[in-house]
Amino acid sequence: MSMDLAESMLSRRGVSVSSIADIVLKLQQRYHPKLTIEQCEESVRAVLGKREVQYTLYTGIALDELAEKKLLPEPLQSIMEQDEPLYGVDETMALGVTSIYGMIGLTSFGYLDKEKIGVIEILNEKSDGIHVFLDDLVAGIAAAASSRIAHNNPDAAHYTAGSD
Ligand code: MG
Repeated sequence: MSMDLAESMLSRRGVSVSSIADIVLKLQQRYHPKLTIEQCEESVRAVLGKREVQYTLYTGIALDELAEKKLLPEPLQSIMEQDEPLYGVDETMALGVTSIYGMIGLTSFGYLDKEKIGVIEILNEKSDGIHVFLDDLVAGIAAAASSRIAHNNPDAAHYTAGSD
């Protein structure tokens, strides 16, 4: 199954479903005091079940891995090695994932882009390997899983841009 492939690619790159679920729980627990880590994991797996998310992951992870093997053409190889802050294609790609459950995910993504919590921070601080795309993709998946929970909740009206 392709969902298993997405999950196993993530785990090969040091990211488990439960580590993304931890981020979702942090994003959502103020709105849902009874939200469990299992519900967050279920939501992350639902996001990973979407073909467009899988295709985005395959693309981003491939670019990270090709950069680690120094197989990308210049200037892209150098940009990836330096994790050039003005590159921005990694964020743009992740926004496609973020918005699959509507625009609610955007505020969460913006927050995670700034705060880099949990496994996103670990990826950012890793000195070995290149995770230019993966850190943003993980933030995008967490933000999408978080909006999915918001949409399934009758209090979804409380989620407005800027509230988080
Ligand atoms: Mg990045």
